[in-house]
Amino acid sequence: MTVQDKTALVTGAASGIGRATALLLAERGARVVAIDRDGDGLARLAGDAAGDVLTLVQDVTDAGIEASVSGFLDDRGLGLDVLVNNAGVGGGDFIERTDDETLRRFFEINVVSLFRLSRLAVERMRTTGGAIVNVASIFAEIGATKSPGYSASKGAVASLTRQLATDYGPCGIRVNAVAPGLIETPLTAERIRTERWRHQIFIEQSPLRRVGKPEDVARAIAFLASDEAGFITGETLRIDGGWGMGRYPREEASL
Ligand code: NAD
Repeated sequence: MTVQDKTALVTGAASGIGRATALLLAERGARVVAIDRDGDGLARLAGDAAGDVLTLVQDVTDAGIEASVSGFLDDRGLGLDVLVNNAGVGGGDFIERTDDETLRRFFEINVVSLFRLSRLAVERMRTTGGAIVNVASIFAEIGATKSPGYSASKGAVASLTRQLATDYGPCGIRVNAVAPGLIETPLTAERIRTERWRHQIFIEQSPLRRVGKPEDVARAIAFLASDEAGFITGETLRIDGGWGMGRYPREEASL
């Protein structure tokens, strides 16, 4: 996969999908700039990486993030070839139990930070071209239980992906998203373990009969970020073991 010698910025890189993505891109020869608010997690990432990983401890909701990331890149003489907008939070409750502040928080982390970093990225990639990969969710597309703020925010991620792909394709900037199904990470591990209904819906009713691993998503992100995906833009790729195709009994199909 040709990400060799590219500079790739990955947000939420201290854990889960972001960590797996940063490790894979570094292993494949990219220079990774890993951003997270969790400094200890970033230090572990840098220690575990097989390649070049620079770390920036930063809350992505900070309104000054564009200046901060620009300064970091400029101080090191780095361009920007790949942006992976992964940092995000999940969960939620019925809309009657979701206040404005909770809704705003989902959008601040999952959408506004992605919007700001994408603005920075297209400015930097405008003359060189580049790739942006956003982490949406299967919930952007399919009705989910008790996640109105989360689902709405991930819907915004998918539509922003298509919008930016349209606007910046002529500059050689590709913008795609992945839509993970249920992936076992620190965000979901406890819920997978304790909630029986989640197991039934996402594993027993899924064609591949398993939850995903962070590496399943990382490999798709690395592909979309690479030159191999050179004619793909505006796409939101499901990484869900087939779950998002629909929810109907599949017993006969599995015989
Ligand atoms: P995770 O909790 O394991 O990792 C998220 C990382 O983002 C953490 O390191 C956290 O510190 C960081 N982060 C969160 N808010 C931040 C902020 N404001 N500033 C800086 N860093 C911040 O979660 P994950 O499961 O790896 O999720 C990664 C992305 O994948 C999220 O956007 C999530 O919505 C999406 N996603 C996950 C699943 C799943 O099943 N795990 C499914 C669909 C989509």
